[in-house]
Amino acid sequence: MSDEATLQLPLLARVGHAQHCKICLQGLPSSQVDVDSARLALAFYCLGSLDLLNSLESRTNDFERQDWREWIWEQHTQGRYGTGFKPSSYMTPSHNLDNYTEFDAPHMITTYTALLSLSILKDDFSRLDRPGLLKFLRACQKDDGSFYTEPGQGGDSDIRTTYCAFAISSMLDDWSGIDVDRAIPYITACRTYEGGYGQSPFCEAQGGTTYCALASLYLAPSSSPIRGEPLTAQQRRQTIRWLVHNQGQSGGFHGRTEKEADACYCFWCGASLELLGAKDLVTTSALASFLARCQFKFGGIAKSPGEHPDPYHTYLSLAAISIHPPGPDTTTSTSWNIKPLDALINTTKETAEWARSHIPGQKIKS
Ligand SMILES: [Zn+2]
Repeated sequence: MSDEATLQLPLLARVGHAQHCKICLQGLPSSQVDVDSARLALAFYCLGSLDLLNSLESRTNDFERQDWREWIWEQHTQGRYGTGFKPSSYMTPSHNLDNYTEFDAPHMITTYTALLSLSILKDDFSRLDRPGLLKFLRACQKDDGSFYTEPGQGGDSDIRTTYCAFAISSMLDDWSGIDVDRAIPYITACRTYEGGYGQSPFCEAQGGTTYCALASLYLAPSSSPIRGEPLTAQQRRQTIRWLVHNQGQSGGFHGRTEKEADACYCFWCGASLELLGAKDLVTTSALASFLARCQFKFGGIAKSPGEHPDPYHTYLSLAAISIHPPGPDTTTSTSWNIKPLDALINTTKETAEWARSHIPGQKIKS
């Protein structure tokens, strides 16, 4: 960190990154060959990248956006355990449920990404079955406070699912679908001796799961006793120290102690520091320089320099730049200007505002 020389950053290849996401997105709705269980999540990373780059309007047309909205609504599925979104038209189920058809079980992570994708596409949510969504959340919560990914004891249950349940409740502005008092002790139990959080209790701390834990705690409703100050001063210091230590020599963050830097952890750790009010501890010039080197020459951002790009790492890199833009010690251009991010629900502030004003629906004031 020199205080004399300023670092000259290369351009952020906005057009190439937008093009990479557009190409990935175009294959999604109509592809009959690609049997991928996570296509709605992939759509979210593509649409989210275009949103962060402020390129959605310019790179896509009304017809395409309408087409994607319709495709997402086709995954809206209702049944005995409530309503949510299923991962894709071709999802292979891990189990059968009584009255969803074989391929139709809604999925917690998919439901979170579908709500965000529809918000990016400025859907009016007139088709959303809100009581069904609350019922779905209720059907997913386990006795230990965590959540299954699918209702009726289906799929994994770990802190990522807890985060999605909290984010959905927050966007709905209705917490009656989940038992927050039972969920919080589960999150607390995922905390490790290092100050990070693991995927479930007694697991090693990771950047991604630490973000999920902290964001859930900070999203918790005002009626919750931990709202505002979920960590003690000592815990907060310890978590900040662990997160800062994850920024390595390359400028990128690694997700676990002693691992290689990876672009996605620049978001998971960087957003966690933002939530803890410690964003000034990130060395932003080194971070930007690492992410610049992760850019693929034909567009898209990879997990590390020299690797192939994908929409997941492209989105999370852009989101990290949004929170931690290159500082005054760098010489850069407007190519690095990314739309501001809502670090709690992980979408642009503009999209978060759309979600919060359209997903709750019309409330009858008593
Ligand atoms: Zn990664």
